[in-house]
Amino acid sequence: MATAVRELADIRITDGTLRPVAEKLLAGERLGGEEAVTLFESHDLLAIGALADLKNRERNGDRVFFASNQHINPTNVCVLRKTCVFCSFARTPKEEGAYTRTLDEVLEEASRAKSAPTREFHIVGGLHPTLRLSYYTGIIRALREAYPGVHVKALTAVEVAHLARIERATVRDVLLALREAGLTTMPGGGAEVFGAGVRATIADRKLAGEEWLAVHREAHALGIQSNCTMLYGHVETARDRAEHLMALRELQDETGGFLTYVPLAYHPDNNELGEQMGWQGRETMGVDDLKNIAAGRLVLDNVPHVKTHWPMVSQFVSQVALDFGCDDVEGTVVHERVYHEAGARTPMELAYDEIVALIRGAGKTPVERDSLYQPVRSFD
Ligand code: SF4
Repeated sequence: MATAVRELADIRITDGTLRPVAEKLLAGERLGGEEAVTLFESHDLLAIGALADLKNRERNGDRVFFASNQHINPTNVCVLRKTCVFCSFARTPKEEGAYTRTLDEVLEEASRAKSAPTREFHIVGGLHPTLRLSYYTGIIRALREAYPGVHVKALTAVEVAHLARIERATVRDVLLALREAGLTTMPGGGAEVFGAGVRATIADRKLAGEEWLAVHREAHALGIQSNCTMLYGHVETARDRAEHLMALRELQDETGGFLTYVPLAYHPDNNELGEQMGWQGRETMGVDDLKNIAAGRLVLDNVPHVKTHWPMVSQFVSQVALDFGCDDVEGTVVHERVYHEAGARTPMELAYDEIVALIRGAGKTPVERDSLYQPVRSFD
C-alpha cells in the first residue's frame, strides 16, 4: 500500500486535520499529545495506515516477527474479581470454575505444544490471595530445567506488585527473585488505560497507572525488558488513549526497556461492564483495531515493535494490520483462556505453519523470534 510514500503528495488525505500530523511525520518529527488525539479522532484510516506503514518499513522492512509460544495461566482466582468489571477470566476462590494449578499440572500443560517446539512460555493469572512468591519462582525454575533455552515471560506489573504486598517485600526484591529463578521478560498486561477516570470506572482497585509504570521502570533497571499494552474499546476517549501512549513513550525515553507495544481489544461478554452497558456480542470493529495499531506505531516512535494480538482481533484483521504499521504477530499460544472467557470467537491456538502462512499471505517475510526479538529462524 504505502511502499512509495515519500512525501505528502503520495498520501491521499481525506481528513484535513491529519495534514499537519502527516507533515510532521514525513519531516521526521515527533508527534505531540494533541496530534495523538487527532489520530484517534480521525476517520481517515487509510491515510493513518499509510503513514504507519511507512514508519514501520523504515524500521523493519518487510520482516514480521512471531514466537512459537505457549500461554499458561496458573490460577484464575483473583482478589480483584469484583472490581475489575471488564474482566471475564477471574473467579473468587469458591466460585464455579475457579482453579489453581499444581506445579505438576503446569508442567503437564507445558508439554502440550504440538505444532512446533515452544520457545517462550507466557505466564499470567489472577491475584491469588494466598499463593506465595515461591509458587511462581518454583514454576519458572521447573520450566527452565525441563525446557533449557526456553524463555519465560511472566507476571504482569499488577501481579508483581501484589506479590510484593503479600511478601511484605519491595517490588525490586520480587523482581530479583523472579529473575534469579529464570524469568527473562515481563508481559505488558494490567496497564488498561492509565487515566484515573477510566480506571475508576473499569478497574477501581487495580494498581494505579503511575504504579504500573513504576514496576516496569524497576524491571528495566534490573535488565528485565517488558511489553506495554493499552486495553481499548470500552469507556475511554481519544484523549485518554493519547495520554496513555504519551506516558508509555515517556518511560521508554527514560529506560528503553519496552520491546513491543500491544493494543488489546476489550471483549464485552461474560463481564459486568459488558452486561451493565448492554454491550454483549459487540466486539471492537476492524477500523478501530487497525487504527490502534497504526496510532501506536506513529506515537510510540521509540518502541521497536508493534504487535497484533490475533486471539482478540482475528487472524484476518491481524493480517491486514501488517500493512498498518504492525511488524509482530502473537504466536502459537496453544491454549488461550483469558479472551475466550470474554467471548472471543477466534481459535484457541494457531499452528506454527498457519502463522507463517498468515504472514506470507500478506507479502511479508516471517521471522521466528525469541522473547528478546533475536531471530531464531527465518524464511527468506
Ligand atoms: S483483570 Fe487481572 S487483576 Fe483484574 S480481576 Fe481480572 S485477573 Fe484479576
